[in-house]
Amino acid sequence: SRLSLLSLPLLSGLVFAQDGQGLHKKSYGYQSDVARLRKIVINSLYSHRDVFLRELISNSNDALEKLRITSLKEGFPVENPLNITIKAVPNETGRGGRLVITDYGMGMSAEDLATNLGTLAKSGTSDFLNEAETDSSAAGNLIGQFGVGFYSAFLVSDRVYVASIPVQSKQNPNPVQNVFSSSSNDAEFEVYPDPRGNTLGRGTEITLVLKDDALEYLATDRLRELVAKHSSFATSYPIYLQVVK
Ligand code: ADP
Ligand code: MG
Repeated sequence: SRLSLLSLPLLSGLVFAQDGQGLHKKSYGYQSDVARLRKIVINSLYSHRDVFLRELISNSNDALEKLRITSLKEGFPVENPLNITIKAVPNETGRGGRLVITDYGMGMSAEDLATNLGTLAKSGTSDFLNEAETDSSAAGNLIGQFGVGFYSAFLVSDRVYVASIPVQSKQNPNPVQNVFSSSSNDAEFEVYPDPRGNTLGRGTEITLVLKDDALEYLATDRLRELVAKHSSFATSYPIYLQVVK
């Protein structure tokens, strides 16, 4: 993949995803297998936590590829650039720095957010979880054989926001941007209309509120290293790094 550094000194106009006080929020419980998987991920995969970036980049890549194919099949033009951006935004207080990973891919509706991020579709999940729960050395294999996917975001984050808006279509002529929000401690997640409105146009923005011990992932060199190590063959779209000083 092509990796470029956008050295913009300041991200004007970057307004973070929020908790949306007072909005029409829907709360959901994670499907039980997801709750188990999240627990294993959070408790046993600390030494593998670098993989979170690979997993998120690979999801963005999938969403861009899906968009490209759909646009060819259905004959609509794709206007926004097909790329992935990673923004590293430290917080002045030294805590709560954020990584924001954005793609202008297919995006997700509110229902998609709840289904895709709150349930597991993989076959053989329960067997695998049984094994990983009883044998801690099997947890490492979880990544290689099973793939922990999106949930690896919780390895490095206290809270994860996923803002997403699906591509416009005949069935969905006026898509709405929604937010999925979940903390690493909660057994529940919420979905609600994005208080910022439609900031993406199309696609998905993942905001990781980093744990105190994961602030290393704000460093340009660290991000470059991870992209080179894990994702250089996994994506066909350019990846941009944007670091706020
Ligand atoms: P997998 O990629 O193996 O399906 P993940 O846990 O990585 O599993 O992701 C779960 C699902 O969430 C994906 O299949 C996809 O439907 C949805 N998803 C995750 N990230 C994105 C994204 N950036 N854009 C669109 N959909 C996404
Ligand atoms: Mg994935």
